Amino acid sequence: MLLLDAPHLYDRPGNIYLDDKGQDWHDNHLRFGALCVAAAKVAVEGIKRRKPDIVHAHDWQAGLTPLLIKMADAKKPPRCVTTIHNIAFQGLFHWSIKDTFSIPNKYFTSEGAEYWGNLSFLKAGLVFGDKITTVSPTYARELLTPEFGMGLEGVLQARGEDFSGIVNGIDLKAWNPSTDPQLETNYNLKSLGRKKENRAAIAKRFGLEEKSKGPLFCVVSRLTEQKGLDLLLEVLPDLVGRGAQLALLGSGSKSLEAGYLDAARRFPGQVGVEIGYDENLSHLMQGGSDAILVPSRFEPCGLTQLYGLRYGTIPVVARTGGLADTVIDANEETIAAKAATGIQFDPVTADALRIAIVRTCDLFDQPKVWNSIIRNAMQYPVGWDQSAPEYRALYETLLS
Ligand code: ADP
Repeated sequence: MLLLDAPHLYDRPGNIYLDDKGQDWHDNHLRFGALCVAAAKVAVEGIKRRKPDIVHAHDWQAGLTPLLIKMADAKKPPRCVTTIHNIAFQGLFHWSIKDTFSIPNKYFTSEGAEYWGNLSFLKAGLVFGDKITTVSPTYARELLTPEFGMGLEGVLQARGEDFSGIVNGIDLKAWNPSTDPQLETNYNLKSLGRKKENRAAIAKRFGLEEKSKGPLFCVVSRLTEQKGLDLLLEVLPDLVGRGAQLALLGSGSKSLEAGYLDAARRFPGQVGVEIGYDENLSHLMQGGSDAILVPSRFEPCGLTQLYGLRYGTIPVVARTGGLADTVIDANEETIAAKAATGIQFDPVTADALRIAIVRTCDLFDQPKVWNSIIRNAMQYPVGWDQSAPEYRALYETLLS
């Protein structure tokens, strides 16, 4: 592993993308541009007599790399893959920044790294990468449409077969209900009853009534428009009315934070909210909740539903992107075939979400069916066993 040691760019408080006011760092073009310059230099010149065959650039932060490699005009340059994890983040900067990176005008065109007069780091990666991937097949299809492509759909359409989707996996060691140290009690398929003890721990932490008979839903999420959590706020009275509870861990939009804190006051004992980012707590929430809600308007892959599957915490998800690809909706056929792993809904509206929550509660009230869905979920493959060979195949195509 190589690290770029540049404290003047990276050694600061706050988050790697945002300053303490939640704004993009004013010099993000330099912070991530420097990373691209260093990566391109190593890629073209090699280091310690080793040269990479393939450079894999992730998101806009690494997007300039394929262009910088092209600009180096090397004899046998490495091949490049660009992966889009979320097209909402494009790394758009004033056109003059092109001179900071000595990008010649021939690459700063509408067929190149220029985006309506600005410099787009992500577009540079999409145009100059040899292959492009995103993190699920459904999101790949969605990105070709104006509704999801956020202005880059034409660029992706032009790449044809070079653009595909490979679903993400999760770390099966870090996320394992039978060994997870953050759980109150560990459990596996044979000791599902112990999940209850984790639910009790969540109830204590979030101030929820322990005797409740309905399911405990959880949310672990950034609180943003993308995640559709404004819709959940709208249908919370129905969720509580149906005898269910909600524990939410998240941070982001101030109005959503305020909305959820207010909901916790309006439904004491039924709705519990913690504003913040707490990885340890997120494990306990996966371990002790009955279901996890992911009502995203778009979701490139999504990780929380994958953790939910692994922990037998049934994902209730919008039918979009990676959520559509990784959750199998419970209906008569899928339940009979022992395939059902969760609940999907569309369109992404408050009404459809309300119906999905009611469906979940109805299934929860049938312990035999609910337990079979938990079993299917926990056995559904969510590691890298499927996806790693797909990346390998992609790399091999590039090298052949
Ligand atoms: P996105 O990358 O769009 O935020 P994902 O579902 O792909 O959504 O990944 C989010 C990751 O961040 C998951 O691992 C989730 O558990 C974690 N996460 C999100 N919000 C919180 C939080 N408030 N506390 C702890 N972990 C969180």
